[in-house]
Amino acid sequence: MDDAARRVRETVARQREEKPVLGELLDSFEPLWIARAQEQQRLEEEFAREGIALPQRDDKLSSEGISLLAGADLSGLWPHIVACFRRYQPIFADNDRLLPGRAAVETFFASQEDTPLAQDLVRAVMDADTERLAALSGLEGLEAASLVAASEFCLSTVLRALTVNLASSDDEETNHWPLWTQGYCPVCGRLPVMDWLGKGYEDKNNPFLTTGGGRKFLHCGLCGSDWRFRRAICPACGADKKGCMETFYASTNQAEHVSWCSECKKYCVGLDLRGISPVPDLDIMAFCMLPLDMLAAKRDLVPMCRTSWNQF
Ligand SMILES: [Zn+2]
Ligand SMILES: [Zn+2]
Repeated sequence: MDDAARRVRETVARQREEKPVLGELLDSFEPLWIARAQEQQRLEEEFAREGIALPQRDDKLSSEGISLLAGADLSGLWPHIVACFRRYQPIFADNDRLLPGRAAVETFFASQEDTPLAQDLVRAVMDADTERLAALSGLEGLEAASLVAASEFCLSTVLRALTVNLASSDDEETNHWPLWTQGYCPVCGRLPVMDWLGKGYEDKNNPFLTTGGGRKFLHCGLCGSDWRFRRAICPACGADKKGCMETFYASTNQAEHVSWCSECKKYCVGLDLRGISPVPDLDIMAFCMLPLDMLAAKRDLVPMCRTSWNQF
């Protein structure tokens, strides 16, 4: 089994043990996460063969806060999104709770294989513009919500296959976004689904020393990018007043927290990786911090990045 699929299994097994309350949900989603890891790898190989890659990073645009895919022609991604959906279809069919209103979503994808609307569709998914996607597809209510969820999952697979080489490691030398100071994603522009605190890296002058532990990174739930961000600033509204970023912790696990802004009341869940080995799959961890999302909702906080599981 490849590394990504193995990490999915390990992360799920560990979370199942730590959070029995999530057991049933994890049983439902695990096959989909494993399929995504495998599909991502298949796409990485296909993209490498066909020479499909992200645009080059531009330091000037980066320092101006313009995401890599802002204004890009995304229509070429659509056929891959449809192909992903086709691969996930049997898993959706196996478990009705994964995709309510599945029949309408299947019909939509089948009818839109060679659509002239590809650019609009991908842009609507990328921008989480539910209304636009509903208008383009003609689907409403639950079926539109399911189309959003399925398209997003498929787009996330495609984008991950493109950003895989940019995955940040907790090491200043491989910080791929040195000039990026924004709270939204340097690739796709979305606000983070979670933050994480790094383990630190080996000191070049002294292999017995680790420096830089506890640096804050933000993680994009759509394209999988990670980027460094200053702890004291709100990723959502940019507030930097002393003490505006507050934190509360899970009662049972101090490695898991919520970072929230007292100015705009937005939050994201977070994970301190310093005491966690091996490094888990971050997207599954974002999902597994669902109990913290519920606590945040009780405090009337709003997620920076809405997901299919953090809206109450
Ligand atoms: Zn992103
Ligand atoms: Zn804020």
